Amino acid sequence: MSHLMQTYARLPVTFSHGEGNRVTDINGKTYLDALSGIAVNTLGHKHPALVKAIAEQAGRLLHVSNLYGIREQEHLADRLCALSGMSEVFFCNSGCEANEAAIKLARFYGHRQGVDNPAIIVMEKAFHGRTLATLSATGNRKAQAGFEPLVAGFVRVPYNDLDAIRAVAEHNHNVVAVMLEMVQGEGGINIASLEFQRGLRQLCDDKGWLLICDEVQCGMARTGKWFGFQHAGVLPDVMTLAKGLGSGVPIGACLAAGKAAGLFGPGNHGSTFGGNPLACTAALTTLSTIEQDGLLARAETVGAAIRQGLAEALAGVAGVVDIRGQGLMIGIELDRPCGELVTRGLDAGLLINVTADKVVRLLPALVFSDAEAKELVERLAALIRAFLAA
Ligand SMILES: *Cc1c(COP(=O)(O)O)cnc(C)c1O
Repeated sequence: MSHLMQTYARLPVTFSHGEGNRVTDINGKTYLDALSGIAVNTLGHKHPALVKAIAEQAGRLLHVSNLYGIREQEHLADRLCALSGMSEVFFCNSGCEANEAAIKLARFYGHRQGVDNPAIIVMEKAFHGRTLATLSATGNRKAQAGFEPLVAGFVRVPYNDLDAIRAVAEHNHNVVAVMLEMVQGEGGINIASLEFQRGLRQLCDDKGWLLICDEVQCGMARTGKWFGFQHAGVLPDVMTLAKGLGSGVPIGACLAAGKAAGLFGPGNHGSTFGGNPLACTAALTTLSTIEQDGLLARAETVGAAIRQGLAEALAGVAGVVDIRGQGLMIGIELDRPCGELVTRGLDAGLLINVTADKVVRLLPALVFSDAEAKELVERLAALIRAFLAA
């Protein structure tokens, strides 16, 4: 019997190694990886530049504590701010921690504005993490059940509905921030319209609220821009990152700009591991490889090719409701629950995911080749056709 807490309904496969976009299990079977560890392995598996950088850093310094200066962390903060337009960074180890920092920052900001009970507007179907505050911000009742009392101070509205937010503003004077994913990942690959994003930025400016973008899944070049909000040309006050930032080495970040910058001082927040030299080196190598190998443009073109290919291969197939996405964040919505497709994929040597019950989710690494994209389309379309025909 396993001594692991059964927090995951694990699939019956265990991997031993990987290279590029293929992973091999302990029995020697190889799989095409169209999930990249849920948007984590930005550079695929065993990327030579990343392997080398991590090994060299391990040979210099792994960890020293944030009681001291950390050059790699300073450098990474500079790079992230230059790419995003944000102005300062707090480093942690995961997405929920990055969002915890953002929530604390919003409350801190609220208190500075004289709001004693600050509230944050969050979206239906949002996913922000599993810690108590981020679970409370998450828009999934099933995930919250059994963990009440939830953390207070969140007001939920439908996604892509600016009027709903305006309506909250009219009667709730405790609101200090709006928090959202520009592309919802766990919620089923739902994209915030550019109009909504720009309207929200304007509304936040008018009200003096912070706009908090959770870019944990849609950030890091995945949508074809460095960050999801860049499609609309808006700049948030707070942005969070994690998943793909370290290409598999755990690291998270909470970035602030404008009226959210300069608020936290010594003692207001912290992390033992956050931003250690090893994690920062992995993130710096991820950034430089994305730049050197033109992976931003690749995310856009390969993503478009996969969506286009699937649209053609599944044209007229009854049961396919929608094929949508941005860059390499792709959802195929079916008219019925389709979790079974994950095990069918596994049998066929294909790693995919199903989220929000009916949405096949693809999050390939940014190093996916044209040939792999074509292979993915052919194999996945066949699986979906067979599943819907059954
Ligand atoms: C995965 C995810 C999180 C939580 O990240 P963890 O590293 O699992 O804590 C938060 N927000 C979004 C949008 C995510 O996709």
